[in-house]
Amino acid sequence: MKKVDLHTHSRYSDGTSAPEEVVARAKAARVELLFLTDHDTVAGFPEAAAAAAGSGVEVRCGIEINSIEGSTHILGYGIRWKDSGLLARLSEFRERRAKRVRLIIEKLAKKGISLSFDDVASGTRETLGRPHVADALRRQGVVKSRQEAFDRFLTPGKPGYVESMDPTAEEAITLIRDAGGFCSVAHPDTVCDKARLEDWAKKGLEGLEVYYSTHTPSDIIRYAGLAERFGLLATGGTDYHGPGSGRDKALGVSVPDEVFGAFMERLAKCG
Ligand code: AMP
Ligand code: ZN
Ligand code: FE
Ligand code: FE
Repeated sequence: MKKVDLHTHSRYSDGTSAPEEVVARAKAARVELLFLTDHDTVAGFPEAAAAAAGSGVEVRCGIEINSIEGSTHILGYGIRWKDSGLLARLSEFRERRAKRVRLIIEKLAKKGISLSFDDVASGTRETLGRPHVADALRRQGVVKSRQEAFDRFLTPGKPGYVESMDPTAEEAITLIRDAGGFCSVAHPDTVCDKARLEDWAKKGLEGLEVYYSTHTPSDIIRYAGLAERFGLLATGGTDYHGPGSGRDKALGVSVPDEVFGAFMERLAKCG
């Protein structure tokens, strides 16, 4: 088995750790290969790479792009992270996220909860999202955790919910492929319509996050079966978001050597 973490977040998106802290935790957990996969940004990668030098942890740049399709999130690996086309689209996605957050703040104001945009935005170095609204609600004492903020205010049907303005899954897949990378569908449990995997595989999807922090052994068997059925590589990660996020368990998932080998073989073809 090999210990890897192909799915982590820093404070450049909705994680709470600096990139170097993510690397330090990966080292402490004896993770051999770490991908920083912040939402819609690669800006944390240089700090992670600097921290990785001499640490014994191999650190690479990834990305996670949320789509409008029922909590389908697309992970990207092997991207040319300085690609100008990629950077321009990511900046567009981040602007749409900021617009959505402004609308969420307006909706909450109508319910008598007053948040300033600057206070919400102070929680991130780059990419905004609902978790930063959740953290602002926590700072005001309205909620005790991100989870409570999502449950009471930020999910469909709740008073602060605003529809996603994210791209389609196909747009995210195409963008990552155009930047020389390949894609995996994150945390398949949250994907509303798993039948769509077949279609996305035809559109260029190449992986499925079979190994994930919340997966039981039977989940792993089930998702490995789905991956095989659609010809997808198995990937694995924890979705670490840092202290206070509610998702800060130890980094790293163990994957079989052949799963690691197949991933590395595909990674080697990127450029
Ligand atoms: P957004 O990108 O603004 O739509 O927010 C979605 C992000 O919030 C996801 O990528 C997760 O990181 C996080 N998230 C989603 N649901 C929850 C939840 N129930 N509790 C905490 N964080 C969540
Ligand atoms: Zn996140
Ligand atoms: Fe995700
Ligand atoms: Fe994630």
